Amino acid sequence: MKKDPGNGGTNADGTMEPIAVYPPRLQQKILAQEAPGKAPVTLAIVIPSVTRPMQPFAVNVSVLDANGYPSLQCDDRVRIETPDDGTTEIAFSRGKPAVGCLHGIRCNHEGLLRLSATCGPLSACSNPTLCTSEDVPGIYWGDPHVHTLLSNCHPDRCRSLNFCFTAARYLSALDWVAAADHVSNGRCDFSKWKEQQTVANLYDDAPDFVTLPAYEASLKGGAGGDNNVYMSRFPDMFVDEYAGGDVRTLCRSLRDRLPKDEFFVAPHHTTRTGKHGEISDDIYPGPEAMPVLEIHSKWGTSEYRGNPSPLKKVHDGPSYARDLLQRGLKLGFVAGTDSHATMPSGGGEEPGHIDRLPGLTAVRCRALTRPSVFHALRQRQCYAASGERILLHGSIAGREFGDEWSFSERSTPPEIDVLIAARSNITRVDVVRNGRTIHTATPNAWHTRLAFEDTDDLRTVWTSSRHMKEFIYYYVRVSCDSGAQAWSSPVWMRG
Ligand SMILES: [Zn+2]
Ligand SMILES: [Zn+2]
Repeated sequence: MKKDPGNGGTNADGTMEPIAVYPPRLQQKILAQEAPGKAPVTLAIVIPSVTRPMQPFAVNVSVLDANGYPSLQCDDRVRIETPDDGTTEIAFSRGKPAVGCLHGIRCNHEGLLRLSATCGPLSACSNPTLCTSEDVPGIYWGDPHVHTLLSNCHPDRCRSLNFCFTAARYLSALDWVAAADHVSNGRCDFSKWKEQQTVANLYDDAPDFVTLPAYEASLKGGAGGDNNVYMSRFPDMFVDEYAGGDVRTLCRSLRDRLPKDEFFVAPHHTTRTGKHGEISDDIYPGPEAMPVLEIHSKWGTSEYRGNPSPLKKVHDGPSYARDLLQRGLKLGFVAGTDSHATMPSGGGEEPGHIDRLPGLTAVRCRALTRPSVFHALRQRQCYAASGERILLHGSIAGREFGDEWSFSERSTPPEIDVLIAARSNITRVDVVRNGRTIHTATPNAWHTRLAFEDTDDLRTVWTSSRHMKEFIYYYVRVSCDSGAQAWSSPVWMRG
């Protein structure tokens, strides 16, 4: 959850009043110069996905133009309905980006909640929050895949690193972001690399906002496709295996720069034509070096052939997430934008081939710091979403998503127990076991609880592979009527 530095103002009767906080002047200038928003078209409000009873939290408010840029033409107040049935307001003025925060909002009781807001003719509903006093980890939302001008890829659309980090924090209300600029094929050098680390470290501001060191390494056809490299700190220089290497040699070269627990790679749009994201057994670097896969970005979804949001051109594979999981590759799920308009979490005028819903990654950890986000991703303590901050809170046989356990520890049928909430109506919740949907619920509501016991004889359904011997994996897929989806990282049961 987002830390709230302000407690709000105190009224004469001792009750607390929320206070409006705007981005620092320099950040307002960056937003206004690089993405000057036109007339207001949408209102957006974002709240933390996990909150505590009576603990203050911040509500992020933005009034956006048709492209998702913060409007410079808004001269109005946004009225927000607070959890105690009151209202509060934040005012925006013409000439300044219509982005701000209301600090000091509180939920007074446990449960699921959304907030609604209006601004003139515009209205909005927030993402859901789970207000709980239970000792559960926070959910921190991030975009692990943003391109800036340093990528030299669609530079007519891209913006600066300053904009990337400013927009991620103040416009999109993300908890963390990774600028994952291209390095391959001569697109990076020492000076660009130094610029990247200097600016990323400048904007890293735990516990309020985290930047994750990252870059994108492309590999030629048959060598593992496009992979992002994530690191707990910047090494002196990136490594690139574009010409002549593959994803395994890339990880070997990274090992010369960083200890093995301080980096990992994540393949993405594995179904893209010509990229050969099938990751053959010969080049698979193992679950420690490759713990997660980007299942969705603005290119589309790479979950399974025939999914509702495919890439525009897909190759013959087998390279979907389903294909890789069936081979025993132990991959959790992340999602990002792959924005080439430098718009973390979505919006902007992208090149035409990148037109699907933006992806987001929810990381589950105790505190918002660079090491905690990095290690949670590396341990697959994360889930992927597209389009909305869908809340997914639960377990399989008592295990967190991303974990594994052995058949010998099992005494009762595995139970999938998940609490789900979204901004729009949830139309479907699927339980997937070894690539097949084994249970579907159709709640048609903004929140639901799924409790399902898998009573099948599991000895007849396990798969075996050279990477994992006998195994069964489960994950949960959520679909909403807005088109938004979420995918829990799988849980593995092993022989
Ligand atoms: Zn690119
Ligand atoms: Zn990319």
